[in-house]
Amino acid sequence: MPIHTLYPAERGNLRLSFEYFPPKNDDMEAQLFQTVAALSAFDPAFVTMTYGAGGSTKARSLTAVRRMIHDEGIANTAAHLTCVGATKAEVDAVVSEFIDNGVHHFVALRGDPQGGIGMRYEPFAGGYENAAALAAAIRAKGDFEISVSAYPEKHPESPDVDADIDMLKRKVDNGATRALTQFFFDNNDFERYLERVRRAGINIPIVPGIMPINNLAGISKFAGLCGARVPRRDRYAAGPSR
Ligand SMILES: Cc1cc2nc3c(=O)[nH]c(=O)nc-3n(C[C@H](O)[C@H](O)[C@H](O)COP(=O)(O)OP(=O)(O)OC[C@H]3O[C@@H](n4cnc5c(N)ncnc54)[C@H](O)[C@@H]3O)c2cc1C
Repeated sequence: MPIHTLYPAERGNLRLSFEYFPPKNDDMEAQLFQTVAALSAFDPAFVTMTYGAGGSTKARSLTAVRRMIHDEGIANTAAHLTCVGATKAEVDAVVSEFIDNGVHHFVALRGDPQGGIGMRYEPFAGGYENAAALAAAIRAKGDFEISVSAYPEKHPESPDVDADIDMLKRKVDNGATRALTQFFFDNNDFERYLERVRRAGINIPIVPGIMPINNLAGISKFAGLCGARVPRRDRYAAGPSR
């Protein structure tokens, strides 16, 4: 479960947000809401619920988001939404359904290529071509909070960090109000990225993503797919600077 950190006013006033996955069965649902109750002790600034690319978790994500907002009283529950593999009309209908269920904060995402991570991405015929187009479509529906992705170590499909920052700029120009980063394990990567983002004139909050390591082999594999690097332990034995 990734955690995002926020410094709304000054350091020392740390706020967190938590990213949850929609549960697949009753046992997982019970476990999810036990976790939500336990983590409420941290008074998160917001929580988010992921959404399967191509709409694979649409019903489960919606049910979980509805319960978060209406039963758990977490008004700032953000709904992740991907636009890959769906027409504009289908995506618009999902946005409206979330809004009708009380959502006012979206995490607007493109989603991974339909063939899987690492495969070539093709925009869906009649669909939104990327997260910037999706952000514009959500913005056109009203004054919602719109979070988008950012990649301190660059997205695996990007030729370089500048291309990534150009895409982030397009998302901001289209209405994004916050960026949540892909998880990373070396603060230097984030600090360097943040400097470049600010130099590019992007002034929205860039919220660092933290992935607790509870299974090194599993996280290393997932990080590799996402383009994130798990630092080698021997380098850290001598201190994290390079
Ligand atoms: C905080 C966070 C939450 C996420 N939540 C989910 C989720 O709930 N469900 C899910 O399925 N996935 C999720 N993802 C993963 C995300 O869907 C993938 O990383 C996906 O591959 C890109 O989506 P995006 O919104 O970042 O795309 P975009 O912002 O549209 O693009 C990502 C990057 O790819 C590059 N790029 C885009 N198009 C091209 C092109 N044609 N040629 C070259 N480079 C290109 C750009 O440089 C851009 O920065 C999440 C990622 C993050 C960081």
